Amino acid sequence: MAKVRLEDIKRRFNNVIAVEDITFDIPDGEFWVLVGPSGCGKSTILRTIAGLETATSGNLYIGDRLVNNIPARARDVAMVFQNYALYPHMTVAENIAFGLKMRKFDPKTIQERVVNVARSLSLDHLLDRKPKQLSGGQQQRVALGRAIARKPQVFLLDEPLSNLDAQLRDDTRAELKQLHQQLGITTIYVTHDQVEAMTLADKIVVLNGGRIQQIGEPQAIYALPANQMVATFLGNPPMNILPAIYKGNGFDVNGQLLEIPPSVRENLPIRSGQSVDLGIRPEHISINSDANSTENSGLLVEVKVVEPLGRETLIRVSLPDSTVILNVQLGGNVRLHPGDRLSLQLDLNQLFVFDPK
Ligand code: ADP
Repeated sequence: MAKVRLEDIKRRFNNVIAVEDITFDIPDGEFWVLVGPSGCGKSTILRTIAGLETATSGNLYIGDRLVNNIPARARDVAMVFQNYALYPHMTVAENIAFGLKMRKFDPKTIQERVVNVARSLSLDHLLDRKPKQLSGGQQQRVALGRAIARKPQVFLLDEPLSNLDAQLRDDTRAELKQLHQQLGITTIYVTHDQVEAMTLADKIVVLNGGRIQQIGEPQAIYALPANQMVATFLGNPPMNILPAIYKGNGFDVNGQLLEIPPSVRENLPIRSGQSVDLGIRPEHISINSDANSTENSGLLVEVKVVEPLGRETLIRVSLPDSTVILNVQLGGNVRLHPGDRLSLQLDLNQLFVFDPK
C-alpha cells in the first residue's frame, strides 16, 4: 500500500490540453474516485498514474518515490479496465496467476494466492473455466482477482462496472467496496457515474474540461458544491437550476417573485438587478396545500410528468411562462396529474446562487 501524490500534472496531446493543474494527495489506503463527464480527463490522469501515459509536466509520487520516469511495470500498480482484458486461451486460475508467474513467484505462493483470491471473489468453482464460459460479472471478478493477486501498492480501476447490467453493477459495486475494506489497498477509481462516485469514495475528485472542480468527501461536496457544474453533476435527480434576477427583496423567477427573508438575504453576495442561476435540490421543494398560494415562498407551476418510484414520486413541473423543468420529490401517496397547477415551496435555506452559465 502507498500514498499517491500528483503535483501540477499536465498532459497535452499536440494542441489539445487533456488535463492541467492536477494536484492532489491520496493518503495510504484510501479509496478515491475521479468523476466527471466524458472527455474531462479522468482516464488520462489514471493512465498517467499507471505509467501508460507520460505527463507533459508535473510530478507524480507513489509512496515517497518520484515515478515520472519509472516504467509501468516497475510502479507496483495494478489496473483493471472496462473491457476486462483477460487472456482468452487461459483458464480463470491461469489468468489470476499470470502476473505472479511473470514476476517469478514460486509455484506454492502462486497456488496459495490464487486460492485465496478466488475465495474472496467467489470464483472457487470457476477456476478451470475459460473467460468465454463466464458471464460478464464473473469475467469482471477475474479481472479484479488478477489485479489483487499481485498485492499491488495501488489499485487503478477505469470504469470497471460499465459493461455490466444494472442489478449486477449495483451488486459488484458493493462487493468492490467490501473488497477495499478487507484489503485496504489505495484505490483510484474512474467513472462518469455519480452514483458510483458517491457510494464508493472516501474522497471524490470532480473534473470538468481537464481541470479539478472540487475535491472532498461525497456528502460534503453534495451539501456544498463549489460551482454549478459540481452541483448539477452530483445528485440524482439533479439539482434544479432556475434562471432569475435579484430584486433586492427576492428573486424574479420568470415574472414570479420569490421573496427572500432578510436573514437569508444578508448572506447572499449579490446586488439588485443581477442575473443569477438559482439552484435547489428536489428534496428541498415541497407542495403548498393551497394551490394558489404564493406565500411561504410559493412558486406557481404546472405538472408535466408524474413518475412514481415506489416510496417517492418524481414530478416534473414547468413554470407557466417558460420551459424550466423542476424535479420535485413527494411521498408515495400523493395523486397528481399532468396539467394540475401547484404552488411549490422552496426551502430558502437550501438555495444556491450561481453565476449564470
Ligand atoms: P475521460 O476519461 O474523462 O473521458 P480522457 O482522459 O479520455 O477523458 O480524455 C481527455 C481529453 O484528452 C479529451 O479531449 C480527449 O479527446 C483527449 N485525448 C485523450 N487521449 C488522447 C490521445 N491519445 N490523443 C489525442 N487526444 C487525446
